[in-house]
Amino acid sequence: MLCQNCHTKDAGVHLRRIINGEAAEVHLCADCARALGYGNLFSGFAFPFAARAAQPLAGPDFSALGNRVVRCEVCGLSFEDIVRASRPGCPNCYRVFGDKLNPVIRKMHGRAKYQPAPKTAAPVPPADGEKWYKTASEHGDIVLGSIVTLTANVDGLPFPARLTPVQRNTLGRRILSALGEKTAGFTMADPARLYPYEVAALAERGLITPEFASSADGSLLAFSPDERLCVMLCDEDHIKIRAAVGGLAPEKAFAMAADLRAAVNAAMPLAVSPELGYLNQSPADLGTGCVPAVIVHLPVLSRTGKIPALSSIMGKLGVTIAPFGGSGLNVVGDLYRVSNTVALGLDVTEALSNLKSFCLQLETRERAAAEAYVRGLAAQDRISRAVSVLSGAKLLTANEMSEMLSWIRLGAARGQCEFNLPTINELMLTLQPAGVNTLAGQKLPHEQRDEMRAAIVRKTLFPA
Ligand SMILES: [Zn+2]
Ligand SMILES: [Zn+2]
Repeated sequence: MLCQNCHTKDAGVHLRRIINGEAAEVHLCADCARALGYGNLFSGFAFPFAARAAQPLAGPDFSALGNRVVRCEVCGLSFEDIVRASRPGCPNCYRVFGDKLNPVIRKMHGRAKYQPAPKTAAPVPPADGEKWYKTASEHGDIVLGSIVTLTANVDGLPFPARLTPVQRNTLGRRILSALGEKTAGFTMADPARLYPYEVAALAERGLITPEFASSADGSLLAFSPDERLCVMLCDEDHIKIRAAVGGLAPEKAFAMAADLRAAVNAAMPLAVSPELGYLNQSPADLGTGCVPAVIVHLPVLSRTGKIPALSSIMGKLGVTIAPFGGSGLNVVGDLYRVSNTVALGLDVTEALSNLKSFCLQLETRERAAAEAYVRGLAAQDRISRAVSVLSGAKLLTANEMSEMLSWIRLGAARGQCEFNLPTINELMLTLQPAGVNTLAGQKLPHEQRDEMRAAIVRKTLFPA
């Protein structure tokens, strides 16, 4: 299979994304994956012994060993099974086959050891009922919000891939009941029973991961009415908790997510090893089990071609910058997701503060570049044309809307035009293809979708 970006090299990295309102796979070669900010995913990773195992085994002579193949006592897999499936069957596999798995893990993560989070937990911020992307903040000219995703598995149980849909569903419900009061008022959904566009719309606005939008049968979803907290159960791992807050505050989002994780852990101990940290299904997700991210709008750095150089500097320091939303191949509305991908060797507090200081530097650069840029007639022309398009268009595709909103967001942030930034954020995130279908309550033909989008944008930004 060829890479969908360069169309020349073999694709070894496979991403699940939302394309045109539907869950789909994107295939990339390792070079393009790195250039686009997905180099950290190790998706192209294969156990080095996979080639050997793929060959028919030449009847190994186990007689001398008393014919005993070592098997994990929880999931029953042997090491050969793990190699064949290219994934462990349960957290315990990491313990049973540690001597064989550790060299691979070291190759991925380096020699670093897991650093547990300091005991002093940050306070959980009070909810104000506002959606994360609609919150005004002092960093709001550039930052839309901060999203933290925690991944964990219950110890002593096989990973979801080795459970039946019914078992996955039952486990998901047990985890939710362990959360008890903390998830009171949450909307609970069985993704398999929702329309695909409804699930895709949740990913378009950052509530669930794009991967979860094509989750396995039997997975389960619960989210708070303000969409700040979301629990994804029994897709690839037993539990993924996502917390989102407005502004540059990944530590607040972490506190919210960690509070739920602690509640699960109190009822059903999670698998954590002193060496490797959270024992998750993908060896790439070991360690803190935490991926903190900040969603930023970088119109000027993006349009002046500065992102690739920044991305390569940041990549060396464990921070990635990748397009937010869409196929992930193209930037939509100049929105980026900046995330910290180092999960072994530094504790969560350090990871969060590293990410924050990188984002502050990005902000400073974008702000300085933008101040100069909008003084030019060309930029002012683009901004006022965008206003005309959005106020007059009868049809708007998602891409055109995103591009025009990006211009007026730049204009509004730099005092060139008067629009409310949180309102622009909301339009950008909720009027993507699946989002419009969800508002309509059905899968609309393209033209009707573009018509509805144009009408909502007009009514919202230019009320009569
Ligand atoms: Zn490529
Ligand atoms: Zn196992």
